[in-house]
Amino acid sequence: MNDFRNNPYYELFSKQSINQYAVGNRSYKERLKTLNKLQHAIEVIYRTQIQDALQKDLGKPIVEIELTEIYAIIGDIKFAKQNLHRWMRKQRVDTPIAMLGSSSYIKYQPKGVCLIISPWNFPFNLTFGPLVSAIAAGNTVIIKPSEMTPNSSHLMAKIVSDVFSEDEVAVLQGEVEVSTQLLKLPFNHIFFTGSPNVGKIVMKAASEHLASVTLELGGKSPTIIDKTANIDKAAKKIMWAKFLNCGQICVSPDYVLIDASVKTQFIEACKKWLDTFYSDNPKASGSYGRIVTDKHFERLSSYLENAKTLHAKFEVGGQTDSASKYIEPTIISDLKPEAKLLEDEIFGPILPIVTYDSLDMAIAYINSKPRPLALYIYSNSKANTNTILNNTRAGGTCINNSVLHYTNHNLPFGGVNNSGIGKSHGFFGFKAFSNERSVMKQHTFGVTELLFPPYTGFKETLAR
Ligand code: NAD
Repeated sequence: MNDFRNNPYYELFSKQSINQYAVGNRSYKERLKTLNKLQHAIEVIYRTQIQDALQKDLGKPIVEIELTEIYAIIGDIKFAKQNLHRWMRKQRVDTPIAMLGSSSYIKYQPKGVCLIISPWNFPFNLTFGPLVSAIAAGNTVIIKPSEMTPNSSHLMAKIVSDVFSEDEVAVLQGEVEVSTQLLKLPFNHIFFTGSPNVGKIVMKAASEHLASVTLELGGKSPTIIDKTANIDKAAKKIMWAKFLNCGQICVSPDYVLIDASVKTQFIEACKKWLDTFYSDNPKASGSYGRIVTDKHFERLSSYLENAKTLHAKFEVGGQTDSASKYIEPTIISDLKPEAKLLEDEIFGPILPIVTYDSLDMAIAYINSKPRPLALYIYSNSKANTNTILNNTRAGGTCINNSVLHYTNHNLPFGGVNNSGIGKSHGFFGFKAFSNERSVMKQHTFGVTELLFPPYTGFKETLAR
C-alpha cells in the first residue's frame, strides 16, 4: 500500500476524495447552477482580465481571444447546459431473452477525483473546456495549468477559487515538479493535454494506480491539396488556419502535401492572402501574434536555420526578431526529407510544402509517420477524398476546410495513438469523465432460476 502522506498535495487530494460523493450526487439543477456560476465568471466578471492576461502571455489579438478562448468556453458551457439532463439520465438497454424477468440500464456516474493538466497555447479554453465536462459529469477536480503562461494560470486560480470551494475544484500553479508530485496520487481519471512525449510520462504514472486517462496530444497534421481543389479558396483557409495563434495550435496544418502541378498557383494565392490578412508588414499587424517563450522562439529559429543549411526555398517570409519573439509567416518548399521541419511537430508559423506526383505517394508519405491529430483534404473529387479517408487514419478531418471540426460539439475530438487516446467535447467529454456503470435488475421469477444446481432432470438435458 502506497503512503501518500508526504506528498505536498495529499491534503487537498484527501479533501476532494472525501467530498466526491457529495459532489457526485448533486442533482441536475445543482450542476446547472455551478455551470451558470462559471459562465458568469468568465463571460462577465473576469472577461477583460482574461483578455489582459492573454495579451501579456501570448500577445493574442483581442478578436482571437474572444473567438478562440472566451466564446469557445461559453459555447462548451451552453452546450453542456442544454444537454445535461439527457446525458445524466439512465440509459435503458435491451436485455437478452435468456435473462427474461430482468431489465438493464447504463448509469453515468462521476469517475471521482480527477486531474486536468493543460498546455499554454489556449490556456483558458484547454483548461476550462475539460473542466466543464468534468463538473457536468459530477467530479471533483485538481487543475495544473501551464507554467509558460503565468498570467493566465494565476487568473484561472482566482476564477476557480471564486466559483468553487477547494474540496470541489482547485488550481495548483507551478513548474513541472507540481505535475510530477500530483501524478503520484491515485486520481480516478487524468485528462492531459500536451505533447506526445509528456503524454507518455502521464500514462506511465497513471498505470501505477490504473487511473483512466484521456490524452489530448499533438503531432504533424497534414493537409493534402489535389489538383481538383479550388486553389484560391484552399490558400485562404490554410493561411488563416496556419497562422492563427502563430501556428501554436494542436490542429494547425503542420505541412502541405500538394499535387506538383498546382504548387506554383497555390503559393501565389498564399502570398495574396497573407498580404490581405496581415499587410506587407505582419510585425505591425494587430491581427498577428507572437511566440510564447524564448525557448520556443529559439526552437523555431533553429528550424529556419536548418532549412537554410539544406538549401530549401523560402517562398514567403523567414524574418525573425528575438526581442519581440516575432516570426514572420513563413512558407518553405524544396525541403530535403531529413529537414527538421519535416520531422518535428512545428507548432509555429512555418509551413513546409511537399509536392507529390500521385495520390498514392501522398498517402504513403502520411502513413510512414505517426497517426496525426487532424488531416485536412482540399479536393473537389469525391473519389480522391474517399481514397484518402479510407487509406489513412487520423483523429479528425476537415474536407475543404481546416481546424473547424474542433468547434462542432457533436463531434468527438481527440487523436489516435501518438496523437492521443480518448475523446473530448460535448457528450464525449461528459463520457470521458464518467464511469458507464452497468446495472441489471431482477424483477420477478426469471429463467435465471435455471442456473442453480443441482444440474439434474431438465437442466441436465440442456447440456446434451
Ligand atoms: P507539454 O507537454 O510540454 O506541457 C503540457 C503540460 O504538461 C504543462 O502543464 C506542463 O507543465 C506539463 N508537463 C511538462 N512536462 C512534464 C513532465 N515531465 N511531467 C509532468 N507534466 C509535465 O505541452 P505544451 O508545450 O504545453 O503544449 C504543446 C503540445 O501540446 C503540442 O504537442 C500540441 O500539439 C499539444 N496540444 C494538444 C492539444 C489537443 O487538444 N490535442 C491542444 C493543445 C496542445
